[in-house]
Amino acid sequence: MTRIIIIGGGFAGLKLAEVLNNTSYHVLLIDKVNHHQFQPLFYQVATAGLEPSSISFPFRWIFHHSKNVRIRYAEVQQVVSAENKIKTDIGEFNYDHLVLATGATTNFFGNKNLETWSYPMKSTSEAINLRQHVLQNFEEALVASEAKKEALMNFVIVGGGPTGVELSGAFAEMRRHVFPNDYPELDFSKMKIIMVESSPKTLGNMSEKSSSKSRQYLEELGVQVMTNTQVKDYDGSKVLLGDGSSIPSNTVVWTAGIKGNLIEGINKEIVVRGNRLKVDRFSRIEGYANIYAIGDIANMVTDKYPNGHPQVANVALGQAKVLGKNFKNILSNKPLIQYEYHDKGSMATVGKHKAVADLPLVSFQGFFAWFIWMALHLVLLMGMKNKIFVFIDWVIGYFSNDSTLRLIFTPHAKQNQKMVNVHNS
Ligand SMILES: Cc1cc2nc3c(=O)[nH]c(=O)nc-3n(C[C@H](O)[C@H](O)[C@H](O)COP(=O)(O)OP(=O)(O)OC[C@H]3O[C@@H](n4cnc5c(N)ncnc54)[C@H](O)[C@@H]3O)c2cc1C
Repeated sequence: MTRIIIIGGGFAGLKLAEVLNNTSYHVLLIDKVNHHQFQPLFYQVATAGLEPSSISFPFRWIFHHSKNVRIRYAEVQQVVSAENKIKTDIGEFNYDHLVLATGATTNFFGNKNLETWSYPMKSTSEAINLRQHVLQNFEEALVASEAKKEALMNFVIVGGGPTGVELSGAFAEMRRHVFPNDYPELDFSKMKIIMVESSPKTLGNMSEKSSSKSRQYLEELGVQVMTNTQVKDYDGSKVLLGDGSSIPSNTVVWTAGIKGNLIEGINKEIVVRGNRLKVDRFSRIEGYANIYAIGDIANMVTDKYPNGHPQVANVALGQAKVLGKNFKNILSNKPLIQYEYHDKGSMATVGKHKAVADLPLVSFQGFFAWFIWMALHLVLLMGMKNKIFVFIDWVIGYFSNDSTLRLIFTPHAKQNQKMVNVHNS
């Protein structure tokens, strides 16, 4: 039986495993987490709008009737291509074909301080960590001196892409509807939500109309939008900006860059900007006959996309479908097909009734865009139970402007680190 190993069960890896389910291939799906994570809704977990379990789906459940797809919960550490094997933290596995679908992680561009002190949001656990930090922050603010309160009440979100915009909007809505009820002793007119973006625009990859509308929505919600501004450094209590000024803040969320999750052993010469791997139109990694890359980690150059495709779910899903079809075509001696991306548009939501959408022929904003955004995310979300739970949470949230998910389960790592620093200083 030909053995295909897929590393990563995100949008790309999971879709590929689904396409190859119940074929004559032996498929091994390996992921360092035991569930699929629906990244587009991380920000709602971070802002206590959704339960983490509503946007997560266990791999073993998805394939529990499969004859040929097997799961390993492991971190892949190295590819040994000369021996067609991979090394993981639970042992070694041999393959005939290897597919890297490892996605991307936060890029701090080498700034160790930012990496230590700011909050990324590239996994469900990081979203939960952020939620706990935010709640913990206000608990501390209740007993903090006036001098320390300012930093505890200032939220800085770095990056004006979809994640930064969605998160800033969600925090602004919580400041309006949720936090003042939870913490009546605190004065939320003093809470600042500041978005810092180095380019001149928010949602710079979208149309001019959507970009300017997103800024307008954010400002209507009371978010302070600082474009053409760079964050230079952060020490856990003060954000240093490019012009030398600073913002006191205990909460910095870093959404300003991603880089591919590379695995040791792949030739470094085919790694391009953003840690992406050069692949051909069949997703084969340059220089390897039986190793492929799909999704965020892959850099496929086409006439339409000379710098590679955008790192979005649709590309990951599309590349997985085409690669899966090609594996099937190999079995039936049919010719291989090339991947072509058909951009169906992009959307982002800023707040209730406030969203922007660019479709191939039309661009629209406001209630309709917001409604379509929600409907689309419900459709894309895995599992009927998850869809129902998210729908119920959204309906309750819509009418109450509230949720009951503001829970702190455990003290988290960064908070502990900060407390140690405070005690030591
Ligand atoms: C906050 C956020 C919001 C987003 N919103 C949108 C949106 O609205 N629309 C949209 O189209 N796109 C959105 N994206 C982008 C989209 O989620 C990605 O393009 C998509 O997830 C890429 O799929 P992938 O399969 O390549 O990687 P991922 O989905 O990131 O999956 C990679 C998988 O590989 C696993 N992995 C990594 N390294 C290893 C290893 N060494 N060993 C084992 N397993 C490993 C990871 O655990 C993960 O499960 C968003 C991303 C984020 C972070």
